[in-house]
Amino acid sequence: MRKIYVFDTTLRDGEQSPGVNLNTREKVEIAHQLERLGIDRMEAGFPAASPGDLAAVNAVANAVKNVTVIGLSRSREQDIDAVKEALKGAQDPCIHVFLATSPIHRQHKLRMDKAQVLDTARSAIRYAKKTFSKIEFSLEDAGRTEYDFLVEMVNMAVEEGAAVVNIPDTVGYLSPYEYGNIFKHLKENVHGIEKVQLSAHCHNDLGMATANTLAAILNGADQIEGTINGIGERAGNTAIEEIAMALETRQEFFQAKTSLQLSEIARTSRLVSRLTGMVVPGNKAIVGANAFAHESGIHQDGMLKEKTTYEIMTPESIGLKESKLVLGKHSGRHAFRERLIDLGYELEEEALNRAFAQFKDLADKKKKLLMKICLP
Ligand SMILES: [Zn+2]
Repeated sequence: MRKIYVFDTTLRDGEQSPGVNLNTREKVEIAHQLERLGIDRMEAGFPAASPGDLAAVNAVANAVKNVTVIGLSRSREQDIDAVKEALKGAQDPCIHVFLATSPIHRQHKLRMDKAQVLDTARSAIRYAKKTFSKIEFSLEDAGRTEYDFLVEMVNMAVEEGAAVVNIPDTVGYLSPYEYGNIFKHLKENVHGIEKVQLSAHCHNDLGMATANTLAAILNGADQIEGTINGIGERAGNTAIEEIAMALETRQEFFQAKTSLQLSEIARTSRLVSRLTGMVVPGNKAIVGANAFAHESGIHQDGMLKEKTTYEIMTPESIGLKESKLVLGKHSGRHAFRERLIDLGYELEEEALNRAFAQFKDLADKKKKLLMKICLP
């Protein structure tokens, strides 16, 4: 089983969610829980962004022990110096240097040609190398970059000794087939590609972040980047819990695994939601309140007979106690009777029929009230 390294950026890309601002204490609290979750690498922030961010990265670097702590940096010496300052005291520090490579970014944002982009990135990696033994280099907007220029840039990063090369779909533009193909192309065309780990970093603008990340894994990515609950810029990043559970549930297909402590997923999700103020939608995969809830009578009957009829993973596997059978107008007699037994009532057949008819009547009118009564 191939190991997939998990690079968590809840504290950096996740914190870039509009309206989210974590203070140092909150970042450290999340960092401790991420360590319990068993992520391999943690991007704690962007030290050059503000003195507060630098201080928070420093606090995280000193708080966690069993995880690589990473600071983000543009391809500029002052940014690299800020990361150096912030990661003083980290047990296993790593710098994440990036530069945009796509024609749109080269022309409109950087105003650089290909040769200038290549030189700027090379100088930045060389400068970072003086301080850091571990460097990740990211080709920002790699998803919209020409294949030949991607190969040129990754060749350079390999030559300069980067440990990880990240290929982000920064704007969430690609489909799984296209994103997977980039990894395949790099594996086949970059000289010495086996010396670096390739990393996938996806955004969810078209709802394809998880699918794209899984496509990258199938095409040779060694590391995945994402956030808890999928928070992040615009429509968010790849949700780490979705990747971990997809690999766990479909082991035979993916033949790859993360080292996450899966039973810490629910707790981590709740903590991140509480501290960021970003509510998890009820129907969110894995961690939504309804992810293990069943209301339809047919489904409830199946669940009571054999859980695998309607559940492909167990709530216990992510650290929840049990599945929920929600009583509402779609529910059936079987679940209704089980709930009455739970509440201490065992009714005769005829009384049960009467009670069930009344329950359906009420459920039609007052769905919310019923859910509250039945699910204390
Ligand atoms: Zn991003």
